[in-house]
Amino acid sequence: MDFSSLWIWKYMKDDLRWYYKVATNRKPAKYLIAKRVGVDYSDDDKLEELWSKFYNALPKFLSLWKDVDEGKEDITKLEIPKVSLLDLMVSIVRKWLYSCSFCRWRCRVNRVEGKKYGACMLDTESRVGAYFHHRGEELVFRGVKGSGTIFFTSCNMRCAFCQNGDISTDKYNGVRVTPRDLAYMMKELRLEGVHNINLVGGEPTIHLHTIIEAIDILAREGFSVYPENYEFESVKYDSFINYPISRESASYKGELNVPILWNSNFYMSDEALNLLRVVVDIWLPDFKYGNDKCALRLSRTPWYVETVTKNLKTVRDWGENMVIRHLIMPNHVYDDTFPVLDWIAKNMPEVWVNIMDQYHPDNFADPNSPKFRGEYKDIARYPTEEEINEAWNYARKLGLKFDVVTFEKRLLL
Ligand code: SF4
Repeated sequence: MDFSSLWIWKYMKDDLRWYYKVATNRKPAKYLIAKRVGVDYSDDDKLEELWSKFYNALPKFLSLWKDVDEGKEDITKLEIPKVSLLDLMVSIVRKWLYSCSFCRWRCRVNRVEGKKYGACMLDTESRVGAYFHHRGEELVFRGVKGSGTIFFTSCNMRCAFCQNGDISTDKYNGVRVTPRDLAYMMKELRLEGVHNINLVGGEPTIHLHTIIEAIDILAREGFSVYPENYEFESVKYDSFINYPISRESASYKGELNVPILWNSNFYMSDEALNLLRVVVDIWLPDFKYGNDKCALRLSRTPWYVETVTKNLKTVRDWGENMVIRHLIMPNHVYDDTFPVLDWIAKNMPEVWVNIMDQYHPDNFADPNSPKFRGEYKDIARYPTEEEINEAWNYARKLGLKFDVVTFEKRLLL
């Protein structure tokens, strides 16, 4: 069975149309389109001027993307400008680091100086804790050869129960990566057959500068990208497997092609979301809480509901491909799961939701760990079968699109 003939496409292909076409090389990833949008700017421009040039160029990119999607334009016939929209975005993120507001915290700290940290605790360094062919993601993402997942360290939320605590709470985990290293990882994974590049953490938004620059390098150098050294290979968890390399299944008309998947807590700022719009082919947002009280107590995150719902709405209004994830938590079906599902049913009933039952008490919520804190005793157990069924039945009652994506591992269709 190959990726394009998976049974699940019968149900989800129309909704994830763009992603499907890029993953199967029927269309070029957005970054291959953006590299053909020329811009004019100078490195001496102030950040505000760069933003203004970005917003002026954005309609040109969107119009070209639309034409490519509708088959009215062939990117290989277009000239590649010396300076592209992606280069402009690199200049923006580099300057933005001097007063960072990549995410809703808007800390405004100078990450280049690195004397004071924001909520993510990062300066400019990006580290990767692990990268590999992920076989546990949703079928549309893991496919048959895995999702090319890259785990960045640190986070801008503080979830007491974090299921990736070793990576999200230890910013020094893993290895330091340069944008070039990261671009090479993406190339390596795609050549080995992955269906997407799955950027996750922790939280990828806080590494926006490294990611945007890596994608720019990937767009320009494609199959010719090589890293400065190969130290990061030490965190390739499946390096013991010899994946067959195929250039053909990694290319669109000769250029390295792979969909970019943004696997995020969706706590980014509006501006970050706008930059990401140019390079992200498929969005995989978490929607954890239905009220700010729980977000503050369990994740120490303020303005949670307004920020995440605003970002979800924006992406949905843009008409982008998206699958929302919601994790059922013990004792939180009524105050979080129900309002989250209500909101989705009211605002974007056409979007797929994976209502996940795999919560396990971890990090500060694990009663068997020395890190356990009594204040999290309400989430210090697995959700019961009754809670899980209540969540799923509620989604059924609301008519949400969740069954195929939630139950696919149990379905033998
Ligand atoms: S990425 Fe977010 S948390 Fe980190 S410094 Fe910037 S605004 Fe603050």
